[in-house]
Amino acid sequence: MKKTFETVIVGGGAAGFFGGLRLRALAPRASILVLESAARPLGKVLISGGGRCNVTHDLNDLEGLLEFYPRGGPALASILRRFMPADTVKWFESHGVKLKTEADGRMFPVTDRSQSIVDCLLKQAARSGLEVRSGDPVKSIALSPEGYLVQSKSGLFSCRTVLLASGSSPAGYRWATALGHDLIAPVPSLFSFKVDSPLLQGLAGVSLSRSRASLLLDPPITQEGPLLVTHWGLSGPAILKLSAWGARVLADCSWRCPLSLDLVPDHTGAELRRLLLGQKQGGRHQLGNPPLELPRSLWRAVLKGGELEPQRVWAEASNRALGCLAERLKDWRFEIVGRGVFKDEFVTAGGVPLEQVQLKTLESRRSPGLFLAGEILNVDGLTGGFNFQSAWASGWVAGQGIAARLQ
Ligand SMILES: Cc1cc2nc3c(=O)[nH]c(=O)nc-3n(C[C@H](O)[C@H](O)[C@H](O)COP(=O)(O)OP(=O)(O)OC[C@H]3O[C@@H](n4cnc5c(N)ncnc54)[C@H](O)[C@@H]3O)c2cc1C
Repeated sequence: MKKTFETVIVGGGAAGFFGGLRLRALAPRASILVLESAARPLGKVLISGGGRCNVTHDLNDLEGLLEFYPRGGPALASILRRFMPADTVKWFESHGVKLKTEADGRMFPVTDRSQSIVDCLLKQAARSGLEVRSGDPVKSIALSPEGYLVQSKSGLFSCRTVLLASGSSPAGYRWATALGHDLIAPVPSLFSFKVDSPLLQGLAGVSLSRSRASLLLDPPITQEGPLLVTHWGLSGPAILKLSAWGARVLADCSWRCPLSLDLVPDHTGAELRRLLLGQKQGGRHQLGNPPLELPRSLWRAVLKGGELEPQRVWAEASNRALGCLAERLKDWRFEIVGRGVFKDEFVTAGGVPLEQVQLKTLESRRSPGLFLAGEILNVDGLTGGFNFQSAWASGWVAGQGIAARLQ
């Protein structure tokens, strides 16, 4: 027996819930069904931000905001403009979740618990009469004379409109393709780098507050920020940003690529050489004591990469060796040999091109009545709350688009 709804939302994640709630607010009588494959909806919200959920970022200048999205471009501006981080804050606060801003601009619930966000969304869904079925994976989406037929594990649903908000699920990509969309190949973003170098052994946990990291490609890709040595390689904001901006080229080379680290981005090479040569005047000091703001163990690893023994004294070091040391501090070479994990966040770059949706409504240009929101679109951001911001915003815009279509 098939059941009829005005809208079926495929995926009970951030974008699906926000789309449903916005639609419900604008069309309170519309029948809406959310189908979620997992036993509980909003699973990623729950695990996000290390269990704290970095809901958004305290950045409300559109131009500035766009700089945090490696994929999205001007088309994304049209979506974000309609629902900026300040709107996210207002929405959650007006629904009982107060957010706080950390020094770097990331925003979290004051409780520091992602459960507060999940509870809020579930409560609003229940209050507004959004029907949510969990543990009910969608198996197929097909066109029908009324609009669409959605087959899930529990039944067959006829609807006028579908909101496809299945995140980075391969099934979602398959349905989008079957309904006439192109797919920009999904590849991972926001990961750490596996680096197999004896020089990094024993350094796990060492961090640097400023660094510049470059993928040595043609053209090179460079990002700056803190750096962290891990058990299997390198991580930290500089590396994560690099993994995002280089997501596609890194996938193309199977995550094997030369990497250069500048450990002292605040000094030019010439300044550094002068500084190191100047240390020779100090005579009997040991080379193992860093003359720069670098962790001693990291400094010693850089020395180890050259001909300099930490127990020798500066006066004994040749000018040539100190010149090489300066070069290595500015351009320390490694080979990335694979992709590591970054436990706090992970997103997929690629998906349905934004050109194939109407930006004001997120209705597909290829399959009328089908709306798309969230990670299924070719949008992804850096860490900092930018990924949820684009999921809330696109859910919101799609909810409005569906409400207008149902009128
Ligand atoms: C560990 C981790 C931590 C993160 N932390 C943050 C953070 O703190 N801040 C931030 O901005 N971003 C964070 N992100 C990224 C963020 O979670 C995503 O960008 C966001 O969840 C995308 O929302 P979405 O609704 O498009 O997709 P999702 O949240 O993935 O929701 C899609 C839903 O669709 C469901 N689904 C899939 N296939 C089917 C099917 N066949 N039938 C029915 N349902 C289906 C899935 O189960 C899922 O619930 C994190 C990601 C990860 C993995």
